[in-house]
Amino acid sequence: MGTTSLKIQAIGFDADDTLWHNEDDFAATEDAFAKLLSPWADTVEAKACLLHTETRNLSLFGYGVKSFTLSMIEAAMELSSGAIDSATLGVLLQRGKDMLARPAELLPNVARVVEELSRSHHLIVITKGDLHHQERKVQLSGIAHHFAAIEVVAEKDTHTYERLLQQHDIDPKRFVMVGNSAKSDIIPPLQIGSVGIHIPYSFTWEHEKVSETQREREVGEHRDRFFTLGAIGELPDLLGQLDHAA
Ligand SMILES: [Mg+2]
Repeated sequence: MGTTSLKIQAIGFDADDTLWHNEDDFAATEDAFAKLLSPWADTVEAKACLLHTETRNLSLFGYGVKSFTLSMIEAAMELSSGAIDSATLGVLLQRGKDMLARPAELLPNVARVVEELSRSHHLIVITKGDLHHQERKVQLSGIAHHFAAIEVVAEKDTHTYERLLQQHDIDPKRFVMVGNSAKSDIIPPLQIGSVGIHIPYSFTWEHEKVSETQREREVGEHRDRFFTLGAIGELPDLLGQLDHAA
């Protein structure tokens, strides 16, 4: 690889809802939460309170299932004005533990694509969330050995990406980030000169949602480095074209 080459040096992968299913598990637990709280609140009110509590707690708890579980308990106490019984709180705790214990279910074609790309590229998992849980999911995923590094970070902003790329000695212009969240996986890498490949998942957590207009505005001038795919199976072809064009 010549020094003037712009060939792809490394590929970053988001984990949740990019490599494996995640948000559908949260959605199912939110439904169960709303059902349990139905004596005190309707579904819309219960879910809104939970989201509000989660968002309020982010700066203290960070992302992940443990934080989500604590927020469920707090929101349940608030919605019931303290009347909720310990048996119901126990059910919420157990839901959180079940989420933590469940092995990650890979999205279709992930195993094949990751194995194929790892033969020619340096692959890194870059994910938010709880350190212990994310490391456990990666280790149990069966694909951990294809990655050169697993980075669990507190926030995915331009500062984080710059720090990680520097740490791994990767040129931002030769870095590609792949993920389901425009806000966390695509816009910050585009802003530091990297390529962003967006693969939307069927659910997006409210906190990660950006409007179409906002996304268009953020992508704007970086359009030549922004791509959207329907599924991860299409990734090797696109990367082949990018490498070929360099
Ligand atoms: Mg994700």
